[in-house]
Parts: sequence; C-alpha cells; structure tokens
Amino acid sequence: MASYDILDNFTEGFCRWTPDWRLLKANAAFFRLTDIRGESSFSELHGIDKLSFTFYELGNAIARQVENLESINNFEIRLARETGGYCWFSVNARRVPDARGQTGYYDAYIRDITETKSKEAELSHQTFYDRLTGLANRELFVDRIRTALQTSKRRKDIGYAVLSFDLRHFKNINQHYGRGFGNMLLRHTAETIRACCREADAVARTGSDEFGVLLQGLEDGAQIVKIIKRVRSRLNAPFSAWEQSINSVRLDIGVIFPLTDYGKPESVLRDLDIAVGKAKGTRSKLGCKFFSRRQLEETRKHLSLSVVLQEKHNLEDFYLDYQPIVRPVDGGIHSFETLVRWKHEGAVVPPSIFIPIAEETGFIGRLGDFVIEESCRQMRYWQEKHAADIRLHVNISPYQLAMPTFPETVLAALSRTGVDASRLFFEVTESAFLRDFKKVLYNINAVRKQGIQFCLDDFGTGYSSLSHLRHLPIKCLKIDRSFINDLERDEKSRILLRHILSIGMDMGYSLVVEGVERQTQLNLLGDLDRLLIQGYYFYRPLSVDSAGALLELQKKR
Ligand code: C2E
Ligand code: MG
Ligand code: MG
Repeated sequence: MASYDILDNFTEGFCRWTPDWRLLKANAAFFRLTDIRGESSFSELHGIDKLSFTFYELGNAIARQVENLESINNFEIRLARETGGYCWFSVNARRVPDARGQTGYYDAYIRDITETKSKEAELSHQTFYDRLTGLANRELFVDRIRTALQTSKRRKDIGYAVLSFDLRHFKNINQHYGRGFGNMLLRHTAETIRACCREADAVARTGSDEFGVLLQGLEDGAQIVKIIKRVRSRLNAPFSAWEQSINSVRLDIGVIFPLTDYGKPESVLRDLDIAVGKAKGTRSKLGCKFFSRRQLEETRKHLSLSVVLQEKHNLEDFYLDYQPIVRPVDGGIHSFETLVRWKHEGAVVPPSIFIPIAEETGFIGRLGDFVIEESCRQMRYWQEKHAADIRLHVNISPYQLAMPTFPETVLAALSRTGVDASRLFFEVTESAFLRDFKKVLYNINAVRKQGIQFCLDDFGTGYSSLSHLRHLPIKCLKIDRSFINDLERDEKSRILLRHILSIGMDMGYSLVVEGVERQTQLNLLGDLDRLLIQGYYFYRPLSVDSAGALLELQKKR
C-alpha cells in the first residue's frame, strides 16, 4: 500500500528526475498530467513500469531550456497526449548540478493551462476570423500583406498579388431578398473563392461584401487571370437559398500585381479599392482591373470633382445632348435619348464619371430634376417650332427614382411645360428595382398614371432574368451594348441575342438595340422592322441645334 504525501493533494505536478530518466520524486498530479500510469505517489514510485511519451517530450524540452538558463519560469509548452489531443503546460523548472558541475537532476513544477489556452485561441480566432464565413478577417489579412511586403524585399523571386472580390449590388440584394439570403450568398461566395485558390494563398473577408486574396509564388499575370476566370465561371450560375434565387453572382475585381514598391499594407488596400472602383465601371467580361498609377491620379481627380459637385449651387454648366433612336427600315427618327453633359474647366466630363459622383453626393436629385425639366421644355419647343412628331427617352437614376419627391417633380415639369406625357419614356436600370422595391414601384406607378412609359436600360447586364421581367411595369427593353460588341466574333452572342429579341417581342415589349456601330452588326440583328436602333452607325449624340436641324430635315423628307 502506497503512503501519500501532502504534495499528492496538489493540482500542480512536481517531479525530480535524472538526465538518464530515473524518477527520484513525483506527485500524483504529475503522473496524471503526463499520462504516466500505475499506482504511484510522491514518496513511493512503485507500480510504474514505463514512463510516458508526454513525459519524455516534456523532460527533453525542459532539459534543453535549463541547459543554458539554469532555471525557467512560466515556460509554456504544448504537448501531444498519449490519449490523443493536446495539452498546454506552464512550467517552472531548474537544473541542479552535482559536485562536478554536471546535471545531477531536474526539478519541475507543471500547471495544466490547456483550458486557458483554448479560451485564448477561441478569442484570437474571434479576433482574427470572420464568424459567418470562417475566413480570416481584415486585420489578419493586413498582417499577411505586411509579412508578404517584408518577404518580397528580401526575396525578389517570389511574386505576390493582392486581389479584392466585391459582390456587386450586395446591399440591394440584402434589402430585396432578405438578410438570410444575403448571408448564404456571402458564404457561397467565400467558399467558391477559397476553393479556387491554393492552400498557401490567404483568403479573407475584408468588408461586409468584399473578399481579399493574397496569392504567392506567381510568375506572371496569366496565373491571376486563370484564378479569376475560375471564380467567375463557378459563380456564373444560378444561386438559390431560402426559396429565392438569382441568376448569377456578380463580382467586381481589383488586382495589384506585382506587389513591389509598397511600404505599408494600408497603401496596398487603398490602391486595391481604387482598382475595384475602376472595375465597377468597366464592361469587360472579366470585370476586373489591374491597378495602375494612372488610376491613382484619376481617383484624386474624382475626389476633386466630387468636391466641386458638392459645392455646385447652380446648374449652368450642365446641358443635354440628344442621340437619335432610329427606325432601321427607313432611317426615320423615332425618338431622342437625352444625355446629360457637364462642362467643367473647359472640358466635357463624361456622364459615366460624374453621374456616380452625383449619386454619391446626393447632387443627383437636383441634376435629375434639371434633366427632366429641360427635356420637357425642349420637346415642347420642338413640337411648336417643327410641329415634330417627337418622343424623348430620359435617363432616371435609381437614386432619383427612389426619392419621395420624384412623382411631384415630374408632375410639376409636365404641367409647367404642358407636354404630352405619353411621348416621354423614362429609362431605368435593373438596379433601380433592387432598391426599396415598394417605394420605387409606388413612384413608377404614380408617374405612369400621367402617361409616361418606362424602359429597362442596359438590359442583360443586371440580375433579373426574362422571367422576372413580367413583374416590372415596363414597356420597352433597351438591349445593352455588350451584346452587340461580340456579335460578329461570337456565335453564342448571336444565338443569345436572337433569343432575347424573339422572347422580348413575344412578350410584347418594344425593343431598342443600343450601340450598333457597323453595318455588319445591323445585318446580324435579323428582323429589323420590329426593332429600333440607337448607335453610332446612324447617329452619335447631337447638340440641341443639330438635333433641331435633323428634325427640320425629317419633316421635308
Ligand atoms: P445609357 O443610358 O445606356 O446611354 C447610352 C450611352 O451609350 C451614351 O453614352 C451613348 O453616347 C452611348 N452610345 C450610343 N451609341 C453608341 C455606340 O454605337 N457605340 C458606343 N461605343 N457608345 C454608344 P453617354 O452619353 O456617355 O452616357 C453614358 C451613361 O450615362 C448612360 O448610359 C446613362 O446611364 C448615363 N446618363 C447619361 N445621361 C444621363 C442623365 O441625364 N441622367 C442619368 N441619371 N444618367 C445619365
Ligand atoms: Mg439610357
Ligand atoms: Mg444603355
């Protein structure tokens, strides 16, 4: 029967052993903690036939430490347990030399800190990982970039690239389809991106609807494009959750490659944001932009433009151009699309630059009101002067369309100018319907009551499918330019376009094809007598005077 010492009641383990693994003393807690089995106690070491793997590991680690330091305090070590899993110990130990200065024995006190460690790990996981997707978060991503920047200074041969994948219209999708759907979409996107990268690449959720990827070991940009194509093709499929679905998951992608000339991760992320911003504006299939210095300059300009727009109190630098929409069979003018222009510091800034800024700054409200009023006024003038049978297409920003004052503004413009509302078409994009749907629908219906008709602009670039269309109160589809671009080269584009046109016609929409620049494109459109065409092949946007002259000419035909 073993006798027990007071040390056997301690939860802390104690052990004294020699360099040749002879146990001189040890307490019950030590045996338990290090998985040494047998009946044993502090004073009597009988019943132990073999030491444990955990003990050998621990003993070796302690021996290494105290060889130089003589003693160690609160030394933390992780060990594999014989029973499986891991444990963490905090160790105080010393080396006790014999008369010749050699190690006589070791003394060690060990405390089990596994629980504290796992809490710490959980906490650090929460601090550095995103709960929803399980990916690293922005902090950790910044850390990875910092490490990559340091490494790339020493090792020029390791090519790094940083990518950002932004979910297009995510906020609108969240609003329209609900948060549950939004969360599932984020998870799906995260998993897809992770699956398309290699194990060594860092993938992170860097914002509410954006994901960052750090690729390493790249030789050239082609590898990046390959990964982007892989992500795109996997996400270019319908996604369903909560009994709802969207046709594809769309991304805007920014890339920085190579990762040289950067000192801080913050500059990398700044430039990445710029590249993503540029990607949003592109119509390229890849939807991706590599960052360039020029973009930084453009962004600085963008910021200064936004300051100008915010401070702008009058609208005298804004005017409208008019692009004819033509009946292709006889070349007659069906209508004009009004396109707003801004003359700033002697140059004309394109609307693709300043409309997004106007939307960001809220200036779009006043600008949009001006465009409606000016369009109505001009139409009235042409009707009187040329007795012209004319219609106008007016672009309405989604922001403007969702404003509570929108119907009032339109009504006021109609009554001030006295134009026939049925000659007005408002062009809206699909993203307008992804905003607050009820409000938008209310506004559209209020305006439709006056006789104004709605046209879906840039059709084919957004989320909805043809089947969604049925629920939208629109009369006319404007087929996006991107379909026409590829027409001559790509058989699939031709088939797709033919089907869209034929379904559109069968569903009773009037159809405008945008962006026709060449006869060859026109020839590929098929049945022309049921289409309207807008494009450089017939006319570029015209000044108000040229448009007036054209109307006069038409009258004489
Ligand atoms: P959008 O409504 O799709 O307008 C058609 C754009 O395509 C115009 O560019 C037009 O000049 C261009 N385009 C027409 N035919 C061709 C062609 O054959 N080839 C090519 N390459 N381009 C062609 P623009 O004037 O730069 O306008 C760009 C966008 O800015 C418009 O796209 C519209 O979304 C927006 N925008 C223009 N005016 C207004 C406005 O008054 N209000 C609002 N909210 N947005 C406007
Ligand atoms: Mg338009
Ligand atoms: Mg368009």
